[in-house]
Amino acid sequence: MSDSATDDAAAADGPLDEVGATLRHIRDLVAESGSVWAQGDASVSEDAAEVGRWRRKLRPVRQAVLAVLETMAATLTASAAPGEHSSGRLDYDRLRERSDLVLEWVDSLLEEATGDAEERRRRQQQVVVRERDLWRERQPAAPGGQRRAVPSQWQNNLLPKPQTAWMVDNAPRPAGDDAFAERIRAAVQAPLPLPPPAANIAATPTGSGQHPPREQDTPFVLVETPAQLEQFFAHVRGDGRAPEQRPREIAVDLESHAHRSFQGFTCLLQASTRERDFVIDAIALRKELAGPESEFVRLLNDPSVLKVFHGADSDVLWLQRDFGPEARVCNCFDTGQAARVLNEPSLSLTHLLETRCHLRENDDGKVEADAGVAAPALDKRLFQTADWRIRPLPDSMLQYARRDTHYLLFIYDRLREELEARSAVDATDWLRVVRERSATVACQVYAVEPVSADGHVALAVRQRWRLSPEEMRVLAALFQWRDAVARAEDESPAYVMPNRIMYRLTRDMPRDEVSVVRVLNAMRVSSGGTPLELAGKRAADIAAAIAGALPPTEGESADGERTARVEHTDAAQLDGAAAAPTTEAGTASATANAAVPLTRIGSMFGRRRHLHANVDETAAASRKRVIESQGDASALDSKRARVTPGDTAI
Ligand code: AMP
Ligand code: MN
Ligand code: ZN
Repeated sequence: MSDSATDDAAAADGPLDEVGATLRHIRDLVAESGSVWAQGDASVSEDAAEVGRWRRKLRPVRQAVLAVLETMAATLTASAAPGEHSSGRLDYDRLRERSDLVLEWVDSLLEEATGDAEERRRRQQQVVVRERDLWRERQPAAPGGQRRAVPSQWQNNLLPKPQTAWMVDNAPRPAGDDAFAERIRAAVQAPLPLPPPAANIAATPTGSGQHPPREQDTPFVLVETPAQLEQFFAHVRGDGRAPEQRPREIAVDLESHAHRSFQGFTCLLQASTRERDFVIDAIALRKELAGPESEFVRLLNDPSVLKVFHGADSDVLWLQRDFGPEARVCNCFDTGQAARVLNEPSLSLTHLLETRCHLRENDDGKVEADAGVAAPALDKRLFQTADWRIRPLPDSMLQYARRDTHYLLFIYDRLREELEARSAVDATDWLRVVRERSATVACQVYAVEPVSADGHVALAVRQRWRLSPEEMRVLAALFQWRDAVARAEDESPAYVMPNRIMYRLTRDMPRDEVSVVRVLNAMRVSSGGTPLELAGKRAADIAAAIAGALPPTEGESADGERTARVEHTDAAQLDGAAAAPTTEAGTASATANAAVPLTRIGSMFGRRRHLHANVDETAAASRKRVIESQGDASALDSKRARVTPGDTAI
């Protein structure tokens, strides 16, 4: 029996007349909703990425509406068939579940649409503010004036993910053999270059000691193209100079992004020689920088060039993560390790800038006290959590990034003198100690985080959550779900599901999709800007993960059998029903509105089985509401098996 025949029969029969007409109407609406933007609405089409995003968001809503239709169609056709009254009875419970879900969804999308609009406005304002602040930065900065002008990585969720430009594999990958350890350790033996002549420091010694090179006296190069990168390497190689003029030390730092990526990725590489500062766009030039043959990796490997870092612990791992396992730092000097050996009261770069470079902070910013030259205020915390993916980079961020390496060779010189002075007193080679410790840092080998069997325990301990054994099982399931989704979607676990939402779900234990969506919506306000988009889309998986961690109730088992039987009926009915509406919708649309793609509704019905499985999971998970008291638990288990965390990885 074809679906159009059913519709016609219903129309003729009377009792189902209205329902049939409504069905057809809704179905056409769904079909049209898929092509709203294809028809070029001027008010939204200006931003193609935005349109694509909303189209993706609306897809599951359309699927859910179709699921409601399918249930109706199946139960209606079943009730029309003779002798099938028991199974054909309109399943109001399931219908209500499904339409509830659709409403929740539409609700949250509307909420988000409003939120997005606000976010966009805010960002536009931000750009304006930022430009004004940059100008102000060149003047004496107003106290606290531009602090908020730097976009935070936690809030910048609308930015397209730049890592789509390269392959990301988040499968756990243990650290390989440390083939470089010997070379890294051997580099400690190599003599360090002689301290640079004072003339190279670009400032005259005064009574209080030497001054660091001033930023405004140092050429600054932003490296964004392969040609500019080649100029950077030419400078570092000392092309066109006498060999002894070649830079022997180079200060290096990295800015990385973590929130919208599973492993994180390097956004900027900063490098300073004694003459120039470079900021390299590591996103744009990732391909050129990466690989065992790249000049950048060879520079890192080259023990004849000392690489000075401040706090290299993360940097040496990030280099391997992004530029290949060969991107190892041979001949590393970590000023953080030097500060440690010198028992500095603070190991921060800020402290070294203040004490070794005579930069001090006042209300207006950092001031090069002795030289009396103002350097603008750059709030370290603000920039450390900034979104380093954004392009073009605002001047304030560029300036901050540049400053992270600009003074570093000067600091190295000072710390080295101090280490040598100390060695003269107590006969320990402190410089050697620092170089060895730096080599140990550089010997760390990068691994892609393994899937942790007890990560949830660590989380609960860290967060001081007091959980029952049952809650711990739920948390474990949520933790595994989150890890799998984060890897598959290349997002941080914190973005997929912030901890406080894990906690809420662990405590509330919603076992069906609608209840999960409800919890997410309730938490949206307090999610601190994280849109919970992924969790919202996968509410059914979350519900299944929670239900799977809990013992089935008696009602559940009984309903499991019932659901399986109804599902079978649905499928059988819809197999016949699917082809016809496609054709009919296509024909109708072709007449009424040529812009409705003929394939769309067909493909939606084509995904019916997958859809069906999802929706049925909702029903299965909410079985506890339902009746009867005996049944087949294994049918349930096989349902759950479809929604294991691994499955959520699309
Ligand atoms: P830094 O070595 O201080 O320039 O920091 C390098 C990178 O570490 C930054 O780009 C951030 O990705 C990360 N980072 C440093 N401090 C923080 C922080 N407090 N919170 C989050 N990320 C940080
Ligand atoms: Mn750093
Ligand atoms: Zn930095």
